[in-house]
Amino acid sequence: MNWESVEKRKLSWSEIWGMESNRLNFIIRATYDVLPSPVNLQMWFGKDPSCLLCTVPAILKHILVGCRTSLTQGRCTWRHNQVLRCLAEKVEGKRKSINAQPFTNQEERQLSSTFVREGDKPRTSPSTPDLGPLKVARDRQMQVDLDQRLIFPTQIVITTLRPDLILWSNSQKLAYVIELMVPWEEAIEEAFERKKLRYANLAAEAEDRGWKIKVRPVEVGCRGFVASTTAKLLREIGIRRQAQQQAIRELANTAERTSHWLWLKRADITWAAQAVS
Ligand SMILES: [Zn+2]
Repeated sequence: MNWESVEKRKLSWSEIWGMESNRLNFIIRATYDVLPSPVNLQMWFGKDPSCLLCTVPAILKHILVGCRTSLTQGRCTWRHNQVLRCLAEKVEGKRKSINAQPFTNQEERQLSSTFVREGDKPRTSPSTPDLGPLKVARDRQMQVDLDQRLIFPTQIVITTLRPDLILWSNSQKLAYVIELMVPWEEAIEEAFERKKLRYANLAAEAEDRGWKIKVRPVEVGCRGFVASTTAKLLREIGIRRQAQQQAIRELANTAERTSHWLWLKRADITWAAQAVS
């Protein structure tokens, strides 16, 4: 297997031993596309190759990312939101821990140099101290488009676009606009380009208003291979080393478990989402 732009997926022996055999079976057979999909069953035993939900010939890719009926029923959205929740929890954890960090001595000096003596004209508004030169702002905020509909912060730009996640700092005028996709692994790069383009105008407009916008489309392949864009984003926002590896592992597991559920439900026209642990 040679997929560019995905992180190597390492399963330790203890993970393999601890895994239910049907799950391991699914990971391996999905990776090499040798699951008994209708099209494979036709090749092997001459059976009907039709999708059991929508009747077009069904390869594994069709079942996991392409079936119209499945899309209309919200199966892919359900999987996407499970992976998004996992990502959002990681970002939120980091955000909180950074906001709680005390200022370093150097940062204190930078801050005090912006304070104003009595009688002097204030250089900055007191409610928004200028933390520009600081490496890490302590006022990061986050919104995720999950339980509540995301509304783009109007101080950045007025738009109806709803990315999956925004992480921003008013003091630094810096925002990460994050879009998550859970595509078929071979389509990762195409998904990236499409999403990047979608936010180009928004970024330009916000930059005219003095903001720095980092548009970050990130992908977690539907068979559990995490794209390097995702690994890079985690690093960029401060989730590094072991914490980064742990986050990648959890994202991979969530995508793969939810895809496994979609696979198990491939012949079940009545769809019910299941919580995955
Ligand atoms: Zn179908």
